[in-house]
Amino acid sequence: MNAHQTPTHQTQTICDAVDAAFDAQLAFTAELVRHPSLRTQEGSAQDLLYTAMQQRGFEMDRWELDAVQLSEHIGYGPTTVSYEGMTNVVGAYRPAIQIGRSLILNGHVDVVPEGPEESWSHSPWDAPIIDGWMYGRGSGDMKAGLVANLFAFDAVRAAGLLPAAPIFFQSVVEEECTGNGSLSALQRGYTADAVLIPEPEEDMLVRANTGVIWFTVRVAGQPTHPREMKSGFNAIDAAYFVMNKLRRVEERWNSQKNEHQYFQNLDHPINFNLGTIRGGDWPSSVPAWCEIEVRASLYPGVTAEAAWSEICEALAAIDQDPAGNTIHTTATRTGFFSEGYVLEEDGDAERALAKAHENVFGSPLKSFTTPGYLDGRVFVLYGNTPALVYGPISEAIHGYDERVDIESVRRITKSIALFIASWCGTVTE
Ligand code: ZN
Repeated sequence: MNAHQTPTHQTQTICDAVDAAFDAQLAFTAELVRHPSLRTQEGSAQDLLYTAMQQRGFEMDRWELDAVQLSEHIGYGPTTVSYEGMTNVVGAYRPAIQIGRSLILNGHVDVVPEGPEESWSHSPWDAPIIDGWMYGRGSGDMKAGLVANLFAFDAVRAAGLLPAAPIFFQSVVEEECTGNGSLSALQRGYTADAVLIPEPEEDMLVRANTGVIWFTVRVAGQPTHPREMKSGFNAIDAAYFVMNKLRRVEERWNSQKNEHQYFQNLDHPINFNLGTIRGGDWPSSVPAWCEIEVRASLYPGVTAEAAWSEICEALAAIDQDPAGNTIHTTATRTGFFSEGYVLEEDGDAERALAKAHENVFGSPLKSFTTPGYLDGRVFVLYGNTPALVYGPISEAIHGYDERVDIESVRRITKSIALFIASWCGTVTE
């Protein structure tokens, strides 16, 4: 093959094909944002994706998550909801001729709660485009990426090329709370030579991330009439005391950041979030109980079991509050129970993506550490598969007025398309 002419021409043809279909891509992304795929309510969004994949001629698979089977896996996060009716969707592209390397294009369809809707500028379930940003819950995290996977494939096909290796398009649930969706896809037997996940990562590649644990701590109090309040013991006050003790674990783990490669330069890589609090029965009784739900993170290389043991030890060491009241806590795992991962530097998949990225962006691919959970861990830790978590610029994910940068989506889609062509190889139609 002539060293330059043909690949350059092919690159341009693929990028032009992304541009040509970009309005349709945005329209489909907006349609997907209009399906509020909150936890347990992902069905209609999955229907939409199922149809979109089926129309592309993929071999379709859709199945309900099985908590019993999942619970046999070390990466399982205990679920607090029933998985009845909660499904993953996978569309498989299987070429007649296979010469390249196989690929999983993964994304999660679930979105986090929108919070008080009146605090949004527009409905979180609409998807207006304003000043180059598409708004809406899930726009950035990560429906733009999920849709980019499909349209990147389309662009390769529109350029008159057939990818020459199997590609599995995965739309999974449960990424925001347990990570059981991608885990279920792995258990179902889906593996490949690489996986790409277009999470909103600021046009960069994730080198390392944290693991995450979710747990509930129940704190017991002593109820009494408020007229003799001092004879009782307020469980809600005690829960804050307990949380402050957990902050010491958080502080200790942050002080260890220099022992963890890729985390030294982060200000505060380990964050314990007091996410919810419930307690008491009504205003005129000193609260008898309080429950807090906490999200904690851990460095890659630290097992979830080891981190959990430290948390449980810290809780067990709490015996009294400063007033001498006995504190009794019960801790339960209620979601993520995951380890972080590190993407090995300069692997084949990364090099192929870096080249694609450079062709589109005109600058080298940067990598960085993100101190949150990513489904990439399922593939790296349990599938022995390099995970390229790489996606568009966003703002306010998990916040009000979540939005994704439209031109960034366009460029990322081009990168993914070029990556598909080089990683999977192509034959002309
Ligand atoms: Zn996400």
